[in-house]
Amino acid sequence: MVSDWEARREICEIGQRLYARGFAAGNDGNLSCRLSGNVVLCTPTLICKGFMKPDDLCTVGLDGRQLSGRRKQTSEVLLHLEIYKADPAVQAVVHCHPPHATAFGVARVDIPTCILPEVEVFLGAVPRAQYETPGGESFARTVRPFVGKANTVVLSNHGTVSWGPSVERAYWYTEILDAYCRVLLIAQQIGNVERLPHAEVRELLDLKQRFGAGVDPRQAGGELCVNTSFGRPTGAGAACPGAPPAGGAGVSP
Ligand SMILES: [Zn+2]
Repeated sequence: MVSDWEARREICEIGQRLYARGFAAGNDGNLSCRLSGNVVLCTPTLICKGFMKPDDLCTVGLDGRQLSGRRKQTSEVLLHLEIYKADPAVQAVVHCHPPHATAFGVARVDIPTCILPEVEVFLGAVPRAQYETPGGESFARTVRPFVGKANTVVLSNHGTVSWGPSVERAYWYTEILDAYCRVLLIAQQIGNVERLPHAEVRELLDLKQRFGAGVDPRQAGGELCVNTSFGRPTGAGAACPGAPPAGGAGVSP
């Protein structure tokens, strides 16, 4: 658990990085950090994330009531609280609108997997939550099914949310995802998005476990390759291109 001052300083610093990257236009986005079991430090409403000062931030209880701060808490804090309540190990949440990842949410296209090694290790499959009007309880509940199974989610027609053991780590997941989505969109324009073979992906997931990043749900029998048709020439089969050939060596899920 970080100190109140440390958490305020980190949120302001990550806010600057997030704004500089173009992940939050105007006053978009919000960040938070758990100060204790039931108290969360969060960004206020109507503030540019690139120009926050430590005393601009406010604290809220897990029940959603504001505890301190001269500015009003963000209405989207309910999304953050839903994640903190669902997983006591989560220490920080970052929500913003990184353009390339958000484009997948707008197109309502699932982020494909089995393409870049770092993404397999640090993110795994990135689910897409259904659309709900931002701010309310029903919006907050859209991420609930994915807590404990992922660290980053694309919000349909909205943006992204990621969480982790620190504000920097949660931001880091967002940055990895947006860079990945950018590469995917460029490769798609070039005309082909090649998949890694299943055996290589399993090797990466073993590596992930050895790094202490936990067991990827796909190792426990989940579908290894998500959205296998993304970036394939039109008319290409829907079968996972990374799977070993039928009748060949290797085990396909
Ligand atoms: Zn938003």
